[in-house]
Amino acid sequence: MVTGPIAAVAIPSPLRRHFDYLVPPGLERTAVRGCRVLVPFGRTQYVGVVLRRHAEASVARAKLRPIAALLDDEPTLDEAILSLLEWSAQYYHHPVGEVVQSALPTLLRRVDGSKAQSGGPKFWFLTDAGNACDPETLASAPRQAKALARLAAEPGLTRAALEADEPGTGAALAALARKGLVESQQLGEVIPPATPAPGPALTDAQAEAVEAIAAAPGFASFLLDGVTGSGKTEVYLHAASAALVRGRQVLVLVPEIGLTPQMIHRFGKRLGQAMVALHSALPNGARRNAWIAARSGQARVVLGTRSTILTPMPELGLIIVDEEHDLSYKQQDGWRYSARDVAVMRARRADVPVVLGSATPSMESVFNVLAGRSTLLRLPERAGAAALPQVSIVDVRARALDGHLSGQLIEAISETLAAGEQVLLFVNRRGFAPTLLCHECGEVLECPRCDARLVLHRQANRLRCHHCGYETRVPSACKHCGSPELRPVGLGTERLEDELEKRFPGARIDRIDRDTTRRRGALEQSLADARSGQTQILVGTQMLAKGHDFPGVTLVGIVDADGGLFSTDFRASERLAQLIVQVSGRAGRASRPGRVFLQTHQPEHPLLRSLVGGDYAEFARTALAEREAAALPPYGALALLRAEAPRRAACTAFLEEAGHIARDTSPQVAVLGPVPAPMERRQGRFREQLLLSAMDRVDLQRMLRPWAPALEGLVSARRVRWSLDVDPQDMS
Ligand code: ADP
Ligand code: ZN
Ligand code: ZN
Repeated sequence: MVTGPIAAVAIPSPLRRHFDYLVPPGLERTAVRGCRVLVPFGRTQYVGVVLRRHAEASVARAKLRPIAALLDDEPTLDEAILSLLEWSAQYYHHPVGEVVQSALPTLLRRVDGSKAQSGGPKFWFLTDAGNACDPETLASAPRQAKALARLAAEPGLTRAALEADEPGTGAALAALARKGLVESQQLGEVIPPATPAPGPALTDAQAEAVEAIAAAPGFASFLLDGVTGSGKTEVYLHAASAALVRGRQVLVLVPEIGLTPQMIHRFGKRLGQAMVALHSALPNGARRNAWIAARSGQARVVLGTRSTILTPMPELGLIIVDEEHDLSYKQQDGWRYSARDVAVMRARRADVPVVLGSATPSMESVFNVLAGRSTLLRLPERAGAAALPQVSIVDVRARALDGHLSGQLIEAISETLAAGEQVLLFVNRRGFAPTLLCHECGEVLECPRCDARLVLHRQANRLRCHHCGYETRVPSACKHCGSPELRPVGLGTERLEDELEKRFPGARIDRIDRDTTRRRGALEQSLADARSGQTQILVGTQMLAKGHDFPGVTLVGIVDADGGLFSTDFRASERLAQLIVQVSGRAGRASRPGRVFLQTHQPEHPLLRSLVGGDYAEFARTALAEREAAALPPYGALALLRAEAPRRAACTAFLEEAGHIARDTSPQVAVLGPVPAPMERRQGRFREQLLLSAMDRVDLQRMLRPWAPALEGLVSARRVRWSLDVDPQDMS
């Protein structure tokens, strides 16, 4: 008879349960909840985390194997994080082992995880002395002068980016640093405390917001709603400072693209406290060190992207989620959590305030204000007296367009260039044209592996699938009828750049999309050129809509605003509205007012009309009324079960069986499907889905609880890849 305590261990298994192990003598006191242990599993070993200890096992004791080794002297995951993870595993119905693993830095998931590595890239900034420095004094050192000018235009460049711009300027950094004119910051390293720098005096609206946050006695959720440039970051800084003064730690979430070095620098400088920045591109060693600094309390401010919300912080006093509407907060594979929603739950459990900030709040957050669960803090005006841009709709129906630009937009571009100001043109697709069509027989070139058209990339002379990476040479004739008349249809960034070059010969045009920024340092370079005024016309995809400021841009053109108006996804209009407002926010700063032109075939569309007044709030009211009438989120609750397999029948069989069980379990939950996913085939696999909806989130949760584990047991589940998405954001 085997005796002794048993440990329930979370290991990285796709099964929705923990695994029991015997606690060997000697570890009885030390292998406690939150500690990492090495355990045998099949023929391999895993690093797992002890969830709890119990006296009786779920299987016969004789079958249990002992823990092989204890890896921690004290728990790696504290109670606050562990219980948050357990709650999350339940809410998202995801295997607890995978959820717990995602909270550990990679090196702590490995048996040999003790090796340290060097930190992330260094970002360079001007010191106060550097800002005050007269360039004349560097006349004898032109490279230093050049580097200084570049960093003044674009703070936070890396040495590599400076070198790429002009060889030799990177080497000038050391000399500038010796003179105290520049300094660097490194991701993942603890940025040491310093004397906090003063900021501007707050406006009344800012001061009210800061006071409300600082006065919250415990948990409180705030929606900080303010247009780009209204001074939200100033509010974050002051609220953070108040929490730091009380001896608490502050956690700041930023979206993937928005994690600009400037944000880190601004927080580090102004707060003057030890801080770490976490980023998905961080080397493993640096990430682990930063994580440990947060957990030990050494780092008082922790700033990072999505998974940063899972960092243990023993003295947490405030959570800030910047650009809370951003899609990158929702994980799109594996454990599909929303970092914003987990942030609110974490704040609630830790009994601390949480601030969600955005110029274009999500419908969920607007709804929470209406429902009284969240407090609205508004910053109605741009700080520093900058005016909001004026938005005009350009009706392109039945107009003979010269290329894809209307006469109105072309005229506005000419005026802007003549005034020495900059133009930003936005197209939501990279490449030359989204479709290549045979003029003779109408044949369209499609991806052989996906249910999608191949995009023409003319510079590379390739056809590419944007979903699976398939690519091929551009054929010289139609495969179907042999005609050589293959015509590009539709607009991509490459084509727009082409048309602009013909229209405005001599203008300095730069294109920013995933094709032009693949090379390291290329994006930084382009952004620097845009900020310094080097570029006159910027053409780009939504990469441009996020977080970057271009003070010299006074004209923004959204060349095709129609796409989002006709989508099957009920969130498409919300995304379009956010995009339009965010792109518009790039225009005009300080004393120069901006203009925004929207080209559309739907000039009377209520969504567009509501945005002309610059009124996102009015759009939100309309959109929420529509959602309520259709019982869609945030009024109703949704979950999506996805299946994919090389054979369509395998998906259907699994989803039908899953649907039967669901319909039997709960009359409150409506089951729709199986239906083909909006993109029916991807990478050679068929995709189908089952949509579950309920008026009440509690009913949906009650139904999912027994359902998800039941799916694991189905024979038909073994023939497909499946995943469950609670509160899905992307329905494709
Ligand atoms: P947001 O985060 O809403 O885009 P920021 O906080 O970055 O806005 O502020 C935009 C600009 O206005 C920054 O340059 C900032 O220094 C400045 N600013 C913010 N608040 C004030 C204020 N109260 N007085 C003067 N300038 C301000
Ligand atoms: Zn043809
Ligand atoms: Zn494809």
